[in-house]
Amino acid sequence: MSVATHIVLLGAPGAGKGTQAARLVERLGIPQISTGDMLRAAVAAGTEVGQRAKAVMDAGQLVSDEIVVAIAEERLAQDDARKGFILDGFPRTTGQAEALDGMLERLGKSLDCCLAITVVDEEVIARLLKRAEIEGRADDNEETIRERMKVYREQTAPLLDYYRAKGLVREVDGMGELDAVAERIREALGG
Ligand code: AMP
Repeated sequence: MSVATHIVLLGAPGAGKGTQAARLVERLGIPQISTGDMLRAAVAAGTEVGQRAKAVMDAGQLVSDEIVVAIAEERLAQDDARKGFILDGFPRTTGQAEALDGMLERLGKSLDCCLAITVVDEEVIARLLKRAEIEGRADDNEETIRERMKVYREQTAPLLDYYRAKGLVREVDGMGELDAVAERIREALGG
C-alpha cells in the first residue's frame, strides 16, 4: 500500500488534529491546511472575512460554508499542495464535503483517506481547558467548548458515514501519548 498523501483529518475539537497534522507535515513534506488557522489569521488582520467570522467563531458556531469553501479552494490550488495535503478542520459539514469533492475533481485530484481520530468527551474537555490556559484562544472556555462539541456531533460527525460510504475512513485511537498516537497514524496511513 502506498502512503496516503491526500488526507482529511476528522475528529472532535481537541482530538489532536492540529498537533498530529504538524507531525505529518514534517514526515510527509505536504502542507497542513487548517481553515481554523486561516480564519484566525483573517480575524487578526481585520479583513472582511475576518470581520464576518469573528462573532461566529467566538460563539463556537460554524462559519458559513460559502466563506470556508472559498478559502479552502484558494489554498488547495496553491503550488505546495500539488503533491498532497492534510486538511485539518475542513470539511465540517456535508455541504463542505461535497464542495471539496467538486474542487478536487476540478484540480484532477482525489482523496486517499479520511483519518478519524477518536477520543472520549471528558478527555477533549480537559485538553481544551488546558490549551485555553496556554494559548488563550477566545473560543477555549467551557461554555464554548461544549457548544463546539455539540456542533461537531450534529454537523461534522455525520461526515464519517459520508466517507465510510466511499471506503475512505481509517480510524485511529487518539487517547494516550502523542508519540503513540503518531505511530498509530503512521500505520494507518500506510507507513
Ligand atoms: P478550529 O481551529 O479548526 O477548531 O476552528 C476554530 C473555529 O473556526 C471553529 O469553531 C469555527 O467557528 C471556525 N471554522 C474552522 N474551520 C471551519 C469549517 N470548515 N467550517 C466552518 N467553520 C470553521
